[in-house]
Amino acid sequence: MNYVSTRNKSLKATAAEAIAKGISEEGGLFVPDTFVYLTKADFERISKLDYVGRAKEILKLFLNDFTDEEIDYCAKGAYTGSFDEERPAPLVALNDKVNILELWHGPTCAFKDLALQLLPYLLTTSAKKVADGKKTVILVATSGDTGKAALEGFKDVEGTEILVFYPSDGVSPMQKLQMDSQKGKNVNVFAIKGNFDDAQTGVKKIFTDADMKSLLLENNMQFYSANSINWGRLAPQIIYYVSAYCDLLKTNPEIDNTGFNVVVPTGNFGNILAAYYAKKMGVPIRKLICASNANNVLTDFINTGKYDRNREFFTTISPSMDILISSNLERMLFELSGNDDKMVAVLQKSLSDNGTFEVNDEIKLKLSDLFYGGCCDDAETLATIKETFDKYGYLCDTHTAVAVNVYNGYVEKTGDNTPTVIASTASPYKFAKSVLSALSDNIENDEFSIVRALSEFTNTSVPSPIAALENATVRFGTVCDKTEMPDVIKAALKI
Ligand SMILES: *Cc1c(COP(=O)(O)O)cnc(C)c1O
Repeated sequence: MNYVSTRNKSLKATAAEAIAKGISEEGGLFVPDTFVYLTKADFERISKLDYVGRAKEILKLFLNDFTDEEIDYCAKGAYTGSFDEERPAPLVALNDKVNILELWHGPTCAFKDLALQLLPYLLTTSAKKVADGKKTVILVATSGDTGKAALEGFKDVEGTEILVFYPSDGVSPMQKLQMDSQKGKNVNVFAIKGNFDDAQTGVKKIFTDADMKSLLLENNMQFYSANSINWGRLAPQIIYYVSAYCDLLKTNPEIDNTGFNVVVPTGNFGNILAAYYAKKMGVPIRKLICASNANNVLTDFINTGKYDRNREFFTTISPSMDILISSNLERMLFELSGNDDKMVAVLQKSLSDNGTFEVNDEIKLKLSDLFYGGCCDDAETLATIKETFDKYGYLCDTHTAVAVNVYNGYVEKTGDNTPTVIASTASPYKFAKSVLSALSDNIENDEFSIVRALSEFTNTSVPSPIAALENATVRFGTVCDKTEMPDVIKAALKI
């Protein structure tokens, strides 16, 4: 297996190169040029393993230039001791049809931990193979959860420095506190004036800035990306869909025949793309249900085949999905077009020149066959939190609630009652204020009084990483303009 660029298939890379580079030189994203199909016997074998074992089985298929020892080191390092009860991705049944895949039992209480606990291992192992003793400088633009998860993953990792940029108006107070209080000798955190797209565009510019690049080289450093366009972020996400299927096989063996639908609260399209890749590898996923908040650019794309980012940007109560450019969609376009790199290059050019593109009829058909797209606004999100709690005693965060809402709408519209897995992407305590406001009028002002009130009202316990924040020391929080990014980076790296 090789990795190729979505915009130019003749540019090939090994897994280590794809992970170390993050993005291909002409702007395309790395994708595997072949996929391994898992058989029934494979799944039965993998089902017997714990999460680390399952992770190793999947990683082996994608990281073919890693030795078994390296894969063992990476998977054990990432998933031992960092998740509640050593179960990174437990399934919780809502009823006999619907399961919630809880992806927030890691150190930052959001699903990005599943990938970002592993990425530092993959990246430092890759860098050793392809680079040459240069210091690894990680640049991250975050809509909130990536930043904290990357900081936790990379803190005090030998030979690395990490810089995180979050939008000053676009993260929750809890997310902000999580990042501003980050511990570690090699961490730097900045707020960028504007929204997530501003932060992301700023970081992308830095990556391609020739002056910055040569300045880094002079100082024996190299930029790396930890954003969800890195293949090292995607591969770990495939693992939990395979793992969820393995768990389902144990509790309801008929899942093998019925298959199951997957619902994903979506922003950058990484998580749902991983579900698609799992499907491609043989996990019997039927419909991929893509749930968006008021920033419903993907809903429109799935329904019409036209992607159009020229629209109002909304700041919502599910901020990690406040995105108008879903970067990982590019990989899906590559798939849908039958690996047509020329077509992907044209579509992406149109997106960057005009903010829009439209796919052809053949792709539209495939798109609507594979996906269902739906969206809801903040009021509907809050109503869903209350309804789900009242009906099932299950407390979901604002992002997960978008998924539950869209799923309910899907069932109402189609009558499809295939078993379903809903990805739950954050702990409700990360967005405690909104969640509590959905359930009760008794709104406190202080973030931690809200957390306690939510715990008392719902009789659920506060995750320890959130409880520990109350007495954490704030170290960061400087707000800067995106034009100042090169300067703050130079200052942080002392170059
Ligand atoms: C990042 C994030 C999402 C969106 O995931 P994508 O892979 O970008 O689609 C959804 N919910 C939460 C809580 C997140 O942190």
